[in-house]
Amino acid sequence: MIRDDYEMVIGLEVHCELSTKTKIFCSCPTEFGGEPNTHCCPVCMAMPGTLPVLNEKVVEYAVKAGLATNCSISQNSKNDRKNYFYPDLPKAYQISQYDKPLCNHGHVSIETPEGEKDIRILRIHIEEDAGKLNHDEYGRGSFVDLNRAGVPLIEIVSEPDMRSAEEAESYMRKLKSILEYIEVSDCKMQEGSLRADVNVSVRKKGSTEFGTRTEMKNMNSFRSIVRGINYEAERQIELIENGEAVTQETLRWDDISGRTFSMRDKEDAQDYRYFPDPDLVAIKLSDEYIENIKKALPELPESRKKRYMEEMDLSEKAANFVTSSKYYSNIFDEATEKCNNPKAVSNWLMSDIAKVLNEREEEADKIPFSGKELGELIELIDKGTISNSIGKKVLNELFENPKAPSKIIEEKGWVQISDEGAIKEVVIKVLENNPQSVADYKAGKDKALGFLVGQAMKETRGKANPQMLNKMFIEELKK
Ligand code: ADP
Ligand code: ZN
Ligand code: MG
Repeated sequence: MIRDDYEMVIGLEVHCELSTKTKIFCSCPTEFGGEPNTHCCPVCMAMPGTLPVLNEKVVEYAVKAGLATNCSISQNSKNDRKNYFYPDLPKAYQISQYDKPLCNHGHVSIETPEGEKDIRILRIHIEEDAGKLNHDEYGRGSFVDLNRAGVPLIEIVSEPDMRSAEEAESYMRKLKSILEYIEVSDCKMQEGSLRADVNVSVRKKGSTEFGTRTEMKNMNSFRSIVRGINYEAERQIELIENGEAVTQETLRWDDISGRTFSMRDKEDAQDYRYFPDPDLVAIKLSDEYIENIKKALPELPESRKKRYMEEMDLSEKAANFVTSSKYYSNIFDEATEKCNNPKAVSNWLMSDIAKVLNEREEEADKIPFSGKELGELIELIDKGTISNSIGKKVLNELFENPKAPSKIIEEKGWVQISDEGAIKEVVIKVLENNPQSVADYKAGKDKALGFLVGQAMKETRGKANPQMLNKMFIEELKK
């Protein structure tokens, strides 16, 4: 993407809203949406005299995320106040964690064209989300909605280990998939449950020092992350090549114009005047507490991938694909159980199903049918009840109006014709109607057979069993 004498250096700060029922310091619901200011109470509205109480589930979920990303869990941790003013933060400080985050020094691995690569995680800490400003479209002002204020977040800070937009995308996808597997967040990027501050710098290849970085705030789609990184890297290279300096600043990526805009100069930690929150007690975790969470973790993508390769003989590519999302791998498990044909299941997921999702610009969580239904579809093909091409039509039906595939083919009259008498009838008819092809075949043009089979398929609207057709044509042509 960029000039090949430069390389990019990228680090991500990923914010993930936790799917606890209630907020981090009060018992208001975390539910998305709702009329403005209906999911709040004196605590999350920052009324004077109120006191926060830490939601234990938040700690549990954050520890889960830490363990799933190979972090060490801190047994002594605390909450700190990060002071700044913004109208969506009525307390004028955010309760976060400064020098004692819950989780430290982990990593996740991503696939790159050069093989697997570990992206290190510096820390994961817990904090509260702020409210939301709704800007009036007639310019009469802005309205504050505090429904989101106090929704629990974890912030996952990576080391600056990524070297291309593709690596950053893979890392973000991997994180999303892990967080979905462990069920700590719905990870809906379009609703802001998962978003990233993307830090980018560039340097001459071979250089050991990092360049000055800029930070794009609140990126909430894979596409904008990739576009933003490439844009920023090119912009920075151009500055450097023109003898100018990159300014360390906070930027806003604009998806419509495809460029970044300056929001403010970069603030430093000291600007926030962090100090321990005196209203909250220290967070102390026992070995046993951490151990119990570890034991309850579900099987993670890495281990599923190995299992699929070793026990089900999937290729690495197929195993990577199937485990790239909890939704795919759950469907895979369910379908395989039903039809006992893991290769076919992974092929359907990778090709036809992924294609439909792609066309609809949707992700795997939007698959409207179950693994059992996919398994039954494959079983019907394997048993010869329907042909592969009818199978594809059934899949389209599953996307439109999901129900048992056997029901679909019955209702549509799509059962494959495997009756010898019926097949023979079609074959004879096609032979009679196509004397030229018969002559061609007899003169040694094998291609003519394909044409005849095609005609018979047309005649039966794709329902004839292709193997039987082939065999019957050869037999008849020999006569
Ligand atoms: P903050 O942005 O809150 O001040 P840090 O200084 O710790 O926090 O950095 C945040 C992120 O910036 C981290 O993900 C880190 O990997 C990344 N980062 C730090 N230096 C660079 C750099 N020179 N180029 C790209 N990313 C960087
Ligand atoms: Zn509240
Ligand atoms: Mg930052």
